[in-house]
Amino acid sequence: MRYKRVVLKLSGGAISGALESGFDPEALEHIADEILDIHSRGIEIGIVIGGGNIFRGEQSVRWGIERSEADNIGMLGTIINSLMLRGVLNAKSDAEVRVMTAIPINAVAEPFIRLVAARHLDKGYIVIFAGGIGNPFLTTDYPGVQRALEVRAEAILFAKHKTNGIYTDDPNKNTDARLYRRISHDTIIQKNLGALDQSAVILARDHHLPIHVFDFEQKGMMRRIVEGEDVGTLITQTPEDVLKEETIAQENSI
Ligand code: UDP
Repeated sequence: MRYKRVVLKLSGGAISGALESGFDPEALEHIADEILDIHSRGIEIGIVIGGGNIFRGEQSVRWGIERSEADNIGMLGTIINSLMLRGVLNAKSDAEVRVMTAIPINAVAEPFIRLVAARHLDKGYIVIFAGGIGNPFLTTDYPGVQRALEVRAEAILFAKHKTNGIYTDDPNKNTDARLYRRISHDTIIQKNLGALDQSAVILARDHHLPIHVFDFEQKGMMRRIVEGEDVGTLITQTPEDVLKEETIAQENSI
């Protein structure tokens, strides 16, 4: 195995699946199957879920509410998603699943305490980090990287839907756009390439955390990544691994 411990970042959109918002049971089933697949192979896995299927703070302008308040609503959305995922994982397996929140909500989940989280992972529990990092003006990309660093995960896996990695240009608008197989954090930042929050990429760069961006709708992608295959895009920058930025023609029409 290439990795023993990873953090998976899922968007709320992974939970709403084919629906515009809310919850799609088929999508939840797929998420649970993918997580349990790598967990059953001995991979220690933490999960950060977004809340875009419920509410995003950036909607504050349209709704006429203050941004910080809107972000609180968004953070609570990530907790709802986390509890939903715990429920589905519990229904499908005997794995121990813990939800840890950045905002105290002790009747339904544990508070996030870094060393406790790391210990849970040591014991093979699946840990879902909910509520982002508990502060407004962020999306869950940054907390995903932060939690990955805090629990000393070896990589963060950014699950995407409707795209399979980082492209040289928007592939929906430019048919000549090419998929990066490997790219450095710095190039993403300098070229302002989409798909991830820049703040998350900068944090990962500064602490040498590899990021995999991949299409979550396809089965078995996480397993292939943890086993060592490069699917989607690998964002990395380690001294012993000087990378060429190579692009390949689009694999999928997306
Ligand atoms: N959020 C926040 N602080 C955090 C994490 C999330 O304020 O640390 C809020 C923010 O409003 C964000 C929302 O929660 O828009 C839902 O997260 P996100 O937009 O990342 O969801 P995704 O797009 O991944 O579904």
